[in-house]
Amino acid sequence: MTTIKDYYKILGVSESASPEEIKRAYRELAKKYHPDRNPGDKSAEEKFKEIAEAYGVLSDPQKRAQYDQMRKYGAGFGGFQTEGGWEEILRHFGRAGAGPGTGRVFTFEDLHGFGGLGDLFRQFFDFGDLFGPGRPSEPRAEGSLEVEVEVPFLTAVRGGEIVVEVSLPQRCDACGGTGARSGRGRTVCRVCGGSGKVISDQGFFAVSRPCLACGGTGYVISDPCPKCHGQGEFTSRRKFAVRVPEGTDTGSRLRLRKVIERRDGRRQDLILRFRVQPHHFFTRRGKDVYCEVPLSGEQLDRGARIRVGTVQGKKVEMRVPAGTKEGTVFRLRGMGIRTRNGTGDQYVRVRRAA
Ligand SMILES: [Zn+2]
Ligand SMILES: [Zn+2]
Repeated sequence: MTTIKDYYKILGVSESASPEEIKRAYRELAKKYHPDRNPGDKSAEEKFKEIAEAYGVLSDPQKRAQYDQMRKYGAGFGGFQTEGGWEEILRHFGRAGAGPGTGRVFTFEDLHGFGGLGDLFRQFFDFGDLFGPGRPSEPRAEGSLEVEVEVPFLTAVRGGEIVVEVSLPQRCDACGGTGARSGRGRTVCRVCGGSGKVISDQGFFAVSRPCLACGGTGYVISDPCPKCHGQGEFTSRRKFAVRVPEGTDTGSRLRLRKVIERRDGRRQDLILRFRVQPHHFFTRRGKDVYCEVPLSGEQLDRGARIRVGTVQGKKVEMRVPAGTKEGTVFRLRGMGIRTRNGTGDQYVRVRRAA
């Protein structure tokens, strides 16, 4: 849940504090929590950042005015993230703005009357992704992981099934991805109020960045899950039986849809990038196959009929004419690799046996 930080409370001043009072409070606190004075103290560092953030807003008259407006109309935004679009937002505006019981519902005009408060909220909370396509809570494929997989030469040529074993991140089943041992082992991050984002020091309405204290998750794990050590996911070895298409070459890819489940329930695709292993007899170039056959001096001089193995597992007869020189290449038409772009040839180079 997103909450609006209380910058006045952080600086220990009242809402009606003068600029001088704010400045004084900031200086005192900044001195107290300055990292130079508290080396290695993480909480002091966070506190210092918070103070700087608060002062960045409250010391600027314009930002302070907008912030005050926001607190007035935006506080108590309980169900804001529960989807529902503008109607939902406006209902909340009605409730928060006009007080309970009045039933006043704000309109778009009201929003514009606040000086474009709609835009203001969106920037402040970085709501862009919440309103974007695909709800964050919904399992969906986002991004993908790619791994290289070796395929035996003849399996790639002929097609066939292989079993692939890969290490993949996997949502922890013990804690359901929360990273906490028990329901009480996870608390809302106090730095960002659970939004996972904090406003950057440069400006109140300018940018938000992931919260450092909780790593952007919005939660702090006080009692970590023993299985995933608080990570919410762990690496596991998984096996997939995969059908390698006939004619597969190095660099071709196969997508396994949504087989990976991350800690937040997102599903990701696994992409297998094939690398064809070398073969002791055949060499491949595109859809053509090359090999070398040793012949005796007599076979070369007098000519011979020999049998040559092909990638499809056949033995084909090849005629070597009398007086063939070492290094001569013969072509066995159509004995190469069958691909979607046709079938290649096999080239046989003869050499003199040692
Ligand atoms: Zn946080
Ligand atoms: Zn776990």
